[in-house]
Amino acid sequence: MYDPLPQDPFFALVGSYLSPGERLLVRQAYELARREHGDQRRKSGEPFFTHPLSVATYLAQYRLDGAAVAAALLHDVAEDTRVSVADIEAQFGPAVAQLVDGVTKLKDVSKGVAQAVMTAEEIRMASLHKLFEAMTADVRVVIIKLFDRLHNMSTIEYLPPAKQTMKAEETLAVYAPLANRLGMWQLKNELEGLALEVLDNKAYSVIKQQLEKLRHEQRATLDTISQEIVAWLTQAHLPVRNVLHSPENIYTSYQAITKAAKPIHSIDHTLRLVVLLEDAPSCYLALGRLHELWRPIPHRFDDYIAVPRNNLYRALHTAVIHSSGQPLRIRLRTVDMYEVSEIGVLAKWVYANTPLWSKGITQQVDALLASISEEMNQEPERPGTSVQNIVEDLFRHQIVVYSPRGDVFELPQGATPLDFAYAIHSEVGNHCRAALVNDYNYPLDKPLQDGDQVRILTADRGHPHRQWLNEDLDYLTTHRARTKARRWFRRLSRIEAIEQGQKVLEEEMYLLGHAADHFHQSVATLFGFDNPAELYYTIGRAELLPVTISVKVLAAEWHREPLMDVGGRVRSEEGEEFIITQAGHRRLHLCLACRPRPGDSIMGLIRVGGNVTVHREGCHTFRGEMPAGRFLKLAWGAEGTRQVRLVRLRVDVFDRKGLLFEMARLLHEENVNIKSILTLEPHDQDGQVVIMLELEVVSPRQLVRILHRTQALTNVCSVRCLPAEGPMPVMERG
Ligand code: MN
Repeated sequence: MYDPLPQDPFFALVGSYLSPGERLLVRQAYELARREHGDQRRKSGEPFFTHPLSVATYLAQYRLDGAAVAAALLHDVAEDTRVSVADIEAQFGPAVAQLVDGVTKLKDVSKGVAQAVMTAEEIRMASLHKLFEAMTADVRVVIIKLFDRLHNMSTIEYLPPAKQTMKAEETLAVYAPLANRLGMWQLKNELEGLALEVLDNKAYSVIKQQLEKLRHEQRATLDTISQEIVAWLTQAHLPVRNVLHSPENIYTSYQAITKAAKPIHSIDHTLRLVVLLEDAPSCYLALGRLHELWRPIPHRFDDYIAVPRNNLYRALHTAVIHSSGQPLRIRLRTVDMYEVSEIGVLAKWVYANTPLWSKGITQQVDALLASISEEMNQEPERPGTSVQNIVEDLFRHQIVVYSPRGDVFELPQGATPLDFAYAIHSEVGNHCRAALVNDYNYPLDKPLQDGDQVRILTADRGHPHRQWLNEDLDYLTTHRARTKARRWFRRLSRIEAIEQGQKVLEEEMYLLGHAADHFHQSVATLFGFDNPAELYYTIGRAELLPVTISVKVLAAEWHREPLMDVGGRVRSEEGEEFIITQAGHRRLHLCLACRPRPGDSIMGLIRVGGNVTVHREGCHTFRGEMPAGRFLKLAWGAEGTRQVRLVRLRVDVFDRKGLLFEMARLLHEENVNIKSILTLEPHDQDGQVVIMLELEVVSPRQLVRILHRTQALTNVCSVRCLPAEGPMPVMERG
């Protein structure tokens, strides 16, 4: 069985680019892995060795170095055989051993999954933490891991269904976004496709079939259009290197369809082409020529050449109306932009020592890894938090904004002028007082838009406001900015910190209805401090935030009184169980035609007999027939949101137009039911109005968010919780 001189085509591939020394290393790794995995079999019945060999082959196709290819061959050896990492080091040297060690360590996480000791979110965070750590130490570890996942996903049909689902979900949550972030676009698409095939097989095959059909139907049209483009541009002395049809990929189509709640066969029919040109200036000239030929669709032009995405993606995007009347999406780029955009960081190896590999790309890859590393190390004492925030910052869609000088800043979507200020420099953030966006005054907590030009106005003696750190308000949305703002408070003297901390705690406990100072000792105890002064100090230094305190205080008393049931359970055809709220205590069924899934907007139709059928909004089964009074607006409840606590709030305000609307909108966004609402006319000249609310609140966290956001509304003087017993106290006041 063991062939001492393997004649695998793999060696032809490796031999095509590795040096003789590296080839020897790879050959030895091949032999060791093959010998050690021996008769071990995969679930498919294939020899186990086919797996590391496949992973190594992927790597060799992208011309990774000898150490990486050898490590890919050995990546399961340390775990599954008697050979240890130390043995590998002795035989192959530290470079290979470190890579194998890195990949092996990443496995410990999935073991937790098997034992179900962690929640799905904890697993995701733990996996990402390890992946990020490994990645910043050596990006090759993650590349091996990604191809390991690709091969496992492509042979997944041999695993039990529950395990398939788990792996597929993890692939979508962790590996595909990571591949995307590293610019490995082809790999990302493959991973997403494979995961969707497992998670929604029906949708996968329908979309795949539709895309193939579309490709076939559009072929002749696209060929004609391609010829028109080539002729038109050649006439303008712009040689076209190639025109490619670029169909949408399966998972992107799936996301677009499900987001719009459309039937699964309704894929986007827009024609899509990629035009490859000689160099960047030609791309711009070609764009101008094409806009002369066909009318561009407004607001559909994007320039990712001048402003590349930080995952190495570069192209000009436009959409035009072809003379036949059909919309047409065109991307213009050079051949090397095309190549690099497909494979991202892998270009570092594929194009090593070729003209396609530019210093600019090396710098971008390094900057990406350095920024992840910096984020990882910002708060080493809180590893869980930092990884969660990195994920949020890095996986969020990015927008591009400009400084007045035209410097480009890439920020996660939703970032505010304050995030921008902190991205420039801590001091600019700390002293920020106001912002001008495109020359107009702009609120500090309002999200910026792609392309905005932002000018930050600073005050010499300014300092960060504590409000900015409040996670319930949207001043700072990036982890990086929040950390920088927090740091400012760490520089307060002990006396200042204690003074400010006490005030913050008083205000916070007032919101919860705990006004007395003696309560501070209980809060201190709850957080493990001997006395309130230590608690004040920690709060003053912004090490402990009001949100955290309130949530913990409320959590401690949340179950003191019984909660109320408000959600109903419903089962899908596949046997999954969901919770649906706002249907009272009616019996629920899911519509079999539109098959609503969590995340969809849903409506309930009350049937004769009082049962309710749950439909996606716009389900065709009742289009046209809209019997008034028989529809319910329903909502998905998360596990645990079936039960609510009735909370009474008193809000003192100076009345103004629109305030009640803003409060109602805020509660609507929180998906909170208002059980009752009362307002009292101003009782004296100052125009102050009292609003009393009874709300059905799901969790302490939600209540805190409502309190903070209500308090932040303009003209709100105070907000506080009232005891839940007895009649609404305001009744007595009239
Ligand atoms: Mn493996």
